[in-house]
Amino acid sequence: MSTDNPSGQLSTDHLLGIGDLSAEDIELIFRTADGFKEVLNRPIKKVPSLRDITIANLFFENSTRTRISFELAEKRLSADVVNFSSSSSSVKKGETLIDTVNNILAMKVDMVVMRHPDPGAAVFLSRHVPARIVNAGDGTHEHPTQALLDAYSIREKLGSVKGRKVLIVGDILHSRVALSNILCLRKLGAQVMLCGPTTLMPRYVDTLGVKVEHDLDKALAWCDVANMLRIQLERQGGDGIANFPSLREYAMLFGLDRERYERIGKDITIMHPGPINRGVEITSDVADSGASIILHQVENGVAVRMAVLYLLASRIPREQ
Ligand code: ASP
Repeated sequence: MSTDNPSGQLSTDHLLGIGDLSAEDIELIFRTADGFKEVLNRPIKKVPSLRDITIANLFFENSTRTRISFELAEKRLSADVVNFSSSSSSVKKGETLIDTVNNILAMKVDMVVMRHPDPGAAVFLSRHVPARIVNAGDGTHEHPTQALLDAYSIREKLGSVKGRKVLIVGDILHSRVALSNILCLRKLGAQVMLCGPTTLMPRYVDTLGVKVEHDLDKALAWCDVANMLRIQLERQGGDGIANFPSLREYAMLFGLDRERYERIGKDITIMHPGPINRGVEITSDVADSGASIILHQVENGVAVRMAVLYLLASRIPREQ
């Protein structure tokens, strides 16, 4: 795999999903993020790169950490930032998504970072509005910047992603993090295994080019890195646990606690995209242990999002 992108430019105008990116694009984002990570460790954590760019953060679905991470990335790049969330927008008054966004663009916004409950919402928007679109999560579909920051964090911890054995555990069916991670890790040459209850595996799992193992102990023995996904309680049926008998049973079979970690008999790197259901997919003694890189993921999220915004903004034609 070439790690060089001679043009220093992404091959895409938007970040709608990992599917849009080549391995070279991802490597370019990582190299750019390395530079921004260095900036974030300086006493003055700000660069003027996006001084003339206005970015709207449109969050039509709840988010705390992703929204803050994007906003911080934008401010560190000196962009002007406006925020809309579904409770403060007029979407609830029946305005269509295109109307909402066109109204915002009429105020001369250059880029839109959008989270939306519907899969495909970011793609739809990119076809109908003249702004650069970054998908910050579209329903159960994709969450590309999460996958980029996860792969970046593996690269930082282990030196490379290629050839690493990465296990993704849990609610694969409802997780946009899982799909984006699978696509990203495979593009970078990692081996990927999924583990979780059969009822939380998508039907199309055979088409993803991954291994599947339902016994967590065997899966942990195989991997170098375990990414413990959050059970998406808000996306299950009925009472929130329709896809498995109880949270207690889930934690026993698919949760990672100290005892299970010690049984592995080797060091593995533990990840979680947040927010953690402590005591369900992972216990605090593992989440907060030296094996965990969860807070590094959060820290790297800002640098990786700065890189994505910077590289996409550099493709905006400037008036002379
Ligand atoms: N924060 C991630 C997302 O927005 C992961 C999660 O919520 O479980 O998808």
